[in-house]
Amino acid sequence: MLNLVLFGPPGAGKGTQAVKLIERYKLVHLSTGDLLRGEIAGQTKLGLEAKSYMEKGELVPDSVVIGMIANKIEANKAGNGFIFDGFPRTPKQAASLDELLKTNAIAITVMISLEVQHDALVARLLNRGKDSGRADDKDQSIIENRIKVYHKETTPVIDYYNAQGKYKAINGEGEIDSIFESIAKILDPLK
Ligand code: AMP
Repeated sequence: MLNLVLFGPPGAGKGTQAVKLIERYKLVHLSTGDLLRGEIAGQTKLGLEAKSYMEKGELVPDSVVIGMIANKIEANKAGNGFIFDGFPRTPKQAASLDELLKTNAIAITVMISLEVQHDALVARLLNRGKDSGRADDKDQSIIENRIKVYHKETTPVIDYYNAQGKYKAINGEGEIDSIFESIAKILDPLK
């Protein structure tokens, strides 16, 4: 199995690269942002709880996110592996993910962190907001808050995987295909 944590700030290109990675490695894509937006669209209790955090660019509580991911892992554990996109976003989530995987006799293979400069992130998100329909991509102050939250609450996840020898950083700026090739160079030997 190949179990990848695709990491990086909002606007780093995780979703874009995930589409290409799924095609090449036949992995199950688990994006907590997509799952949460699905819950909101379905007007579920979980969606209602998550909405107020997402609108402000804050993180949804760990317990909500972890609960949502558990049955998805269980349901897909016989496949080629997973791409975790936008998750884990706190060290607590990373530790819970390790536990969940362990109970299913699997483990994270590698964490790939896409590095993109602040101004490029803001420009990409504002551009995406023009047609993504995502309220959190339209307002510059919400975008700035999402990046701030990333630095404060999410970057410690790097230390978590670095301590396990699983952290790999790559430059997330440039052509989509050349970024993909840099990722593939890391993943191909790990298959
Ligand atoms: P994303 O689609 O990954 O940019 O996520 C959009 C929003 O969903 C974030 O700004 C958070 O409010 C929420 N969210 C997504 N994934 C997580 C997570 N793993 N932990 C906490 N909140 C999350």
